[in-house]
Amino acid sequence: MSERRPAIGIDVGGTTIKFGIVDPAGKIIDRRQLPTGADGGPDRVLGTIASGTRDLLSAWPDAVSIGLGVPGVINDRGEISHPPNFPGWGVLPVAERLRPLVGTNLPIAVENDANVAALGESTAGSAQDDPTFLFITLGTGVGGCIISNNEIWRGATGGAGEAGHVSVDINGPLCKCGARGCIESYLGQRYMTAAAALRLERFPDSRLHAMVAAGAELEPRLIDEAADAGDSFAREFLEEMGRILGAGIASIMNLCDLHLVIVGGGLSSSEDHLLEPARQAMRSRLLKSIAPTAELRRAALSNDAGMIGAAMLGRYVVRRT
Ligand SMILES: [Zn+2]
Repeated sequence: MSERRPAIGIDVGGTTIKFGIVDPAGKIIDRRQLPTGADGGPDRVLGTIASGTRDLLSAWPDAVSIGLGVPGVINDRGEISHPPNFPGWGVLPVAERLRPLVGTNLPIAVENDANVAALGESTAGSAQDDPTFLFITLGTGVGGCIISNNEIWRGATGGAGEAGHVSVDINGPLCKCGARGCIESYLGQRYMTAAAALRLERFPDSRLHAMVAAGAELEPRLIDEAADAGDSFAREFLEEMGRILGAGIASIMNLCDLHLVIVGGGLSSSEDHLLEPARQAMRSRLLKSIAPTAELRRAALSNDAGMIGAAMLGRYVVRRT
């Protein structure tokens, strides 16, 4: 019998924690939100997660599972390891620490946030028709996940799918991971903003100068806005970023024999200026065995992907046990 009861999905972000009650089809039927308070360390954040979860469980006592997406690598023992945005966490067994605080015997599943968002797209988003695909999310960093036969491919120790650190130029910009020319060193938000600011100095006619002078912050979304308004600097800059993204995607797809890539995150809304050039660059580099059927699609679940995917993760654990 298929499980019709709802599941709890929790998206633990650097600034807010989003709690959702999600039905089996991936629809959010109730939600809460609390500030993360990451500066308070792991005890404070875990306490906040626990109180939000208890609150939802008292409103929805028939929930079957609890899933969490967290911004860090989860190792094969279920521990989060030194999450970059959560000072003082070290290596911490999240589910084990959370269970007594929530006071529940429900299954608790924890995964990396990009993996969870990919699972959301797999079960309720843009990838429902393909059990094997690449997911890339464009945000502060560039995250990724490979879903293989409807399961997260975790690699040897749980850290697989780091698409952002695929290098497209051995002489490219230095990435925070220590390598050069990683996709993230071009398309990560800070890297892209810094590159645009530097290059903009040579384009005094760009309308971005006036937009920034009027108080707007130079960031990828503003560059996309300028491109929408016809600014040629912004259009050419995003087209180049798209070509870099597409070249990186093609390498991953050729390596893994993938025929679908889903692009999520803030800048994935830039269909004409970023995704279409990425699609063209990808197609021109794909092996002939892949190219005819290959597709690049935008993620469907936007800001709710984390909650929906986390809920699906919990359900998945219930199905397996
Ligand atoms: Zn890197």
